[in-house]
Amino acid sequence: MNERVLEKLSILADAAKYDVSCSSSGSKRKNEDKGLGNAEGMGICHAYTEDGRCVSLLKILLTNHCIFDCAYCVSRKSNDVKRAAFTVQEVVDLTVNFYRRNYIEGLFLSSGIFGSPDDTMERLVRIAKKLRTEERFNGYIHLKAIPGASPELLHQAGLYADRLSVNMELPTEQSLKLLAPQKTQGDVLRPMAYLKESIAANRDERKTLAKAPLFAPAGQSTQLVVGASSENDQQILQLSQSFYHDLKLKRVYYSGYVPISNDGRLPAIGTPVPMIRENRLYQADWLLRFYGFRAEELVTADDPFLDQQIDPKLHWALRNLQQFPIDINEADPALIRRIPGIGIKSAEKIVAARRFRRLDWEHLKKFNIATNRARYFLNMKVDGAFRKDWSPEQIRGFIVGSAQSKYAANHSPQLSMF
Ligand code: SF4
Repeated sequence: MNERVLEKLSILADAAKYDVSCSSSGSKRKNEDKGLGNAEGMGICHAYTEDGRCVSLLKILLTNHCIFDCAYCVSRKSNDVKRAAFTVQEVVDLTVNFYRRNYIEGLFLSSGIFGSPDDTMERLVRIAKKLRTEERFNGYIHLKAIPGASPELLHQAGLYADRLSVNMELPTEQSLKLLAPQKTQGDVLRPMAYLKESIAANRDERKTLAKAPLFAPAGQSTQLVVGASSENDQQILQLSQSFYHDLKLKRVYYSGYVPISNDGRLPAIGTPVPMIRENRLYQADWLLRFYGFRAEELVTADDPFLDQQIDPKLHWALRNLQQFPIDINEADPALIRRIPGIGIKSAEKIVAARRFRRLDWEHLKKFNIATNRARYFLNMKVDGAFRKDWSPEQIRGFIVGSAQSKYAANHSPQLSMF
C-alpha cells in the first residue's frame, strides 16, 4: 500500500471510530459464480477494539470533509483537523486486498458530506456497485445513507449493500437545532421511511420471484449519540421504540458522547458519559426487541433515567412486585420471560419441560437461570423454604450485595442481566 493511501487510511479509519452502528449479521448473501467472499454464516464483524468498537469490518469514512457543522462531530466543518478523501477505486482496492488477506469480513463505509448529499451518496453507491459487479465481492457491505440523498440513489445503494443506516444522532428536533442546525429530524426520517417501504416491497417481491435482486437484506439501523444533549433515557427509549415499531429498524446503536471540544453547548472535555449509561440503554433496548417490554414500562416521566446500579428488567420487577411471585408451572410464557434471572432460552426450556412434570427449584437450577435473582420472584420452595414478603428495597439490597461479593471474588468487570 502506498504511503498516500496509508495516510488517508489512518485519518479516515480514526474518524470513523465514533460511529458504532457497525455490527452486522442477518444477511444471507451467498457466494455466486466463484466470486469473492460470502456474507452468510457465523460472526461477521463481531470483533471489538479495547474501547468496545467493532473492527472486523474495514470501517472507514470515504472522506472527513464535511459541509455541515454538527457540534458533537470531529469531522465538523469548523474543526481544525487533518482532512482526507479516498477515491472510489482506493476504497475498492483496500476492501478487496484486506479481504483477500483475511483481515476483514466486510466493509463499513460512512462519509462526511462534501459537495451535496447526492454527490456523496453517488460515490458511496459507485464503490458498492464496483465491489459487487466488477470484483464480484459477496462479503458484507454496510453503507451510510446520507440524509438528503435522493430516493434513486438510496434505491441503488440498497441493491448493493447488505445494510443501510441513516444516523439520527440526537433524539429531539430541539437538540438538532442546537447542535446540528443544518439537519432536521425530517432529513433522517424521510430516507428511513423510504428504506422501510423498499425493504418490505423487496421481501414481498422475492416471495413470488425468488430471483428478484436483494434490497438491503440485513435491513437498516441508526445511531443515537447519548449525553451530548440533555435528553433523558425515557426520551431515547421512546424514540428507539418508534424506530423498531414504526420504521422496522433492525438495530439502534447508542454511542456515549466522548467530549471533543470546549464548545459551551456540550459537556466539557474530561466528562465522558459513563459507560454504564450506554450499557443500560443496550439492556433496555434488548428488552424492547426480544422480551416484549414497552419503553413506558422501563422508564417513566417520574423516573426517566434507567437505574445505573441494577439492570432494567430487575428494576421493572421491583417496581411491579404486585405481579409476583409467579408460578412457573402455570404462568404464561411471556410472563416467565419477565422474571429477573430468567432469559429467553431458559424460559423456553421451562415451558417445554413443564409439559412432562411439575418443576421445582432443583429443576430450575439446571436451566441455567440466575438463581440469585429469580429466587425472589417465584412461587415455589427455594432451597427448602417459601419466599418471604420482602420489600423491593430489601430484595434490591440482597441482589446488589450478592453481585458485589461475587464481583469481589472474581474480579470480573462484567455486568450481568436476565
Ligand atoms: S453531517 Fe455527519 S460528518 Fe458532517 S459534521 Fe454532521 S455528523 Fe459529522
